[in-house]
Amino acid sequence: MSPLLTIDDLSVTFARAGLLSRLVNPFPLPSFNVIDGVTLSLMPGETLGLVGESGSGKTTLARTILGLVRAAAGRIVFEGRDVRTPADFRAMRRRSAMMFQDPVASLSPRLRIGTLLTEPQIIQGLPMPDRRAVAKALLALVGLPASFVDRFPHELSGGQARRVGVARALAMKPHLLLADEPTAGLDVSVQGDVLNLIGDLKRELGFAAMIVTHNLAMIRHVSDRLAIMYLGRLVEAGPTQDVFCAPMHPYTATLIQSEPIPDPRRRSQNPAVTGEIPSVFRRPSGCEFHTRCPIARDRCKTEAPTYRPMGTDRMVRCHFPLQTGGQEREAFSRASANQKGKLT
Ligand code: SF4
Repeated sequence: MSPLLTIDDLSVTFARAGLLSRLVNPFPLPSFNVIDGVTLSLMPGETLGLVGESGSGKTTLARTILGLVRAAAGRIVFEGRDVRTPADFRAMRRRSAMMFQDPVASLSPRLRIGTLLTEPQIIQGLPMPDRRAVAKALLALVGLPASFVDRFPHELSGGQARRVGVARALAMKPHLLLADEPTAGLDVSVQGDVLNLIGDLKRELGFAAMIVTHNLAMIRHVSDRLAIMYLGRLVEAGPTQDVFCAPMHPYTATLIQSEPIPDPRRRSQNPAVTGEIPSVFRRPSGCEFHTRCPIARDRCKTEAPTYRPMGTDRMVRCHFPLQTGGQEREAFSRASANQKGKLT
């Protein structure tokens, strides 16, 4: 089977300064890679979790795939076609959709839900003899009553707004759904409802999904594969359960260890990733994670690691990956135990 989506060596560049600096500074401003050489693929019907802290570049990557941010280098191939030509890019946009993190903020507050749900088809010029009927069918798809066609976005609860966001994203029957933090800001019980809804609709309609999140507990139960990002680079990728059971990159391992344990007596014992994520404008030399890595060595400070395939379906970007029974995993466990000791 061919991939639905392939991202090949994709980079995105931002200039550092704001508008004022541009006006007073006549020279070209230095630019920095906020996404740097990312290569990924997504199979039809698959769910990929794109995971990382705030500032890791995961949302920028998702927005670049949909053309909301311009790529500086690399290729995006969707359903076998390089989307650099305008015609192929338009075809991709018709068959892909983004569900934004704050669906109410992303919807026009002056338009009723019925209008908002059918806007994508109108923009694409699709014939729609009965707009209200189409909107009611979309509401039914996401388990909301037909009467919601006449509501305004501010009249929705958080969970209802997320459902409307799902319905709007699916209005064009996309082959690919990109969901940006679909459960952020929701109560835990509502988070489960939204994820179950996306999972049910995926099974029913057969689309693939890329879910951008920092919520590892959530993504563990809904994704087939994980891609972990740090400072605009992919550091680890593989099947979800394999990555959770035996993370190979120290960043992934620390993120997993940092997940809250549903036991109040043990909650404080897991070490979080120490320190702040550096700015992409001051990317550390060598391995970008060496300033926070518990097992960093001298080599890590000067030599950037390259992507290493680990078996048939995993990759890691680390000089000293944590392998079962290996000395790096032991060193990582010792460092984590020391960190736990400091926290307790
Ligand atoms: Fe840590 Fe070195 Fe691996 Fe980077 S290359 S993650 S610093 S061990």
